[in-house]
Amino acid sequence: MKDLSRLCVHTITTRPWPLARAVEAFADASIGGMTVWRDAVPEEGPQQAGERIRAAGLEVVSYCRGGFFPHTDAQKRQAAIDDNLAALDEAAALGAPLLVLVCGAAPGQSLERSRQQIRAGIEAILPRAQALGVRLAIEPLHPMYADTRSAINTLRQANEMAEAIKSPYLGVAVDVYHLWWDPELEHQIARCGENAHLFAFHVCDWRVPTRDLLNDRGLMGEGCINIRQIRKWVEDAGFDGFHEVEIFSMHYWNMDQAIFLKQIVQAYKEHV
Ligand code: ZN
Repeated sequence: MKDLSRLCVHTITTRPWPLARAVEAFADASIGGMTVWRDAVPEEGPQQAGERIRAAGLEVVSYCRGGFFPHTDAQKRQAAIDDNLAALDEAAALGAPLLVLVCGAAPGQSLERSRQQIRAGIEAILPRAQALGVRLAIEPLHPMYADTRSAINTLRQANEMAEAIKSPYLGVAVDVYHLWWDPELEHQIARCGENAHLFAFHVCDWRVPTRDLLNDRGLMGEGCINIRQIRKWVEDAGFDGFHEVEIFSMHYWNMDQAIFLKQIVQAYKEHV
């Protein structure tokens, strides 16, 4: 049987479940890790949530998400920085070693200007990240999200920014959903390895056809992404962390989450 110790599931993948229920179900399934989304942190707060997760034998893999730095308005840019500092404090309380950044984009300005603001935002929060011992990962998003979600759309752009800022606390997250199509992917993943800044690996699949631009991600094996090939490139680059299942899907959120979790484990064994 395939070892599930490196399988991590994001709380948003089983979004209908409150955190406590997800912790119990993931632990029962022998899943090794959990990535916690900000909206999944319960009333008890991040510290208790972290203790609950570890007590069940799960590792807190990362905290999702920070970012959304660009705005045409300077006050909003400052508010975004403050919000990211708060997210870092929450990640530290949770015991998460990594905060994932969906960097943002402001449609009223150029993507280049948005990238400059992303860089300024990251530089503004790096000292706190370092003080707390929480690393940051730039997650490049598919270009269909360049309007409002991220002006960083290729792994090359993420690598260039990480190399320009250059800190052991800053790296990148490779998500197969966003990057599978990129002819430079193998080369850019190897480049992450040379800089030792590949911090996270997210998996799901690209459904054909995709029925919704945000909430129709597929289960691994259900679409056109060669996940095994990308996993090999990632491991050749020295990555030995978790394989994180991150699926936003109205279809799967509408079904019995216990059955869905069984399907996730099966798909992980067969296709990752
Ligand atoms: Zn992701």
